[in-house]
Amino acid sequence: MKIHEYQAKELLRAYGVKTPKGVACFSVEEAEAAARKLGGNTWVVKAQIHAGGRGKGGGVKVVKSHDEVKFVASKILGMQLVTHQTGPSGQLVKRLMVEEGAHIEKELYVGMVPDRTTQTICLMASSEGGMDIEEVAASAPEKIHKVFIDPKLGLNRVAALELNKKIGVPPEAREKGADLFEGLYQAFIDTDASLAEINPMILTGDGDILALDAKMNFDTNALFRQPNILDMRDLDEEDLAEIEASKFDLSYISLDGDIGCLVNGAGLAMATMDVIKLFGGEPANFLDVGGGATTEKVTEAFKIMLSNPNLKAILVNIFGGIMRCDVIATGVVEAAKQLDLTVPLVVRMKGTNEDLGKKILRESGLPIISSDTMADAAQQVVEAARGGQ
Ligand code: GDP
Ligand code: MN
Repeated sequence: MKIHEYQAKELLRAYGVKTPKGVACFSVEEAEAAARKLGGNTWVVKAQIHAGGRGKGGGVKVVKSHDEVKFVASKILGMQLVTHQTGPSGQLVKRLMVEEGAHIEKELYVGMVPDRTTQTICLMASSEGGMDIEEVAASAPEKIHKVFIDPKLGLNRVAALELNKKIGVPPEAREKGADLFEGLYQAFIDTDASLAEINPMILTGDGDILALDAKMNFDTNALFRQPNILDMRDLDEEDLAEIEASKFDLSYISLDGDIGCLVNGAGLAMATMDVIKLFGGEPANFLDVGGGATTEKVTEAFKIMLSNPNLKAILVNIFGGIMRCDVIATGVVEAAKQLDLTVPLVVRMKGTNEDLGKKILRESGLPIISSDTMADAAQQVVEAARGGQ
């Protein structure tokens, strides 16, 4: 789960991480009032969406008067902000943050993610802040310095100070830099975060270190014990189909292609998407209906897939183990009846009650393309999707 920058900053401030003062706003009037309240003569108006790269996309503006705050706020609020992380259609801006302007002497980078290989928290920092860290990782990986933190031991102060030195923090500011790293680490651990990133972390020129941007993601499996994090959820920023799927306990992820996939088991779902791609198709979604899916659940899964306007064909690929093929077949038939299925449907079924499942499909009278192997099913569905163009 993701949260907005202003929420991440509020969270981090509680851990002693310094940030500029800022106010979250939902209207132009609130933005102007925020600038007056903050005082000073320079403000930054920042779009709040769950994606990075806002600066380049025109969602972060530095302004010098109250009139400019109003003008820029009215431009950004309601805009469809396109960044390298939003996809070409962009994301509608519904919230802003107005922040006091900061003097930037140097932009640095710091981030944190769990590292599965070493079973530690990887703290990364770089002198190359403000830009895409992926670009730095590709072109100058030696400029990203890492400390692997054993969660049993926590972040070692000496290692934190040393990391500050490596990224060019001057000696007099390194204690502050180490404090920031420690605060970030503690916040990360306490909230079951899966990612925390401050880009840029800045040197202000008068010896201070501030988080000028903040991004945090959280492990959804831990949300049951993180009510404060869950309160910050903004459903406006999430995919409608994914929200709907989560209500029915379906693991669903929207993708850009046109072939819907209904599969049981995450491994088989991944393999199914691979085979579709192998034969030149593009999956419209990842969907694992799980082991204990009922007819109702399968019907809901169909509804969610069909809500995608790009959909051209559907592949149902089921391995009947605990899940019985006849249950899936009944669900498919039921969904097809209820939903006025207009796209071609390819079904491949193997395992428990396979014969019964196939019989149900056959006798339904629906125009279902049955297939016996995964490769054949994928070829059939790719062809069907092409035919539908
Ligand atoms: P992102 O593009 O979504 O990562 O948004 P950021 O919050 O990182 O802002 C992008 C860039 O805007 C930063 O790297 C800074 O260069 C600039 N910026 C943000 N806040 C300020 C500020 O208070 N003063 C100045 N001069 N520039 C700022
Ligand atoms: Mn940033």
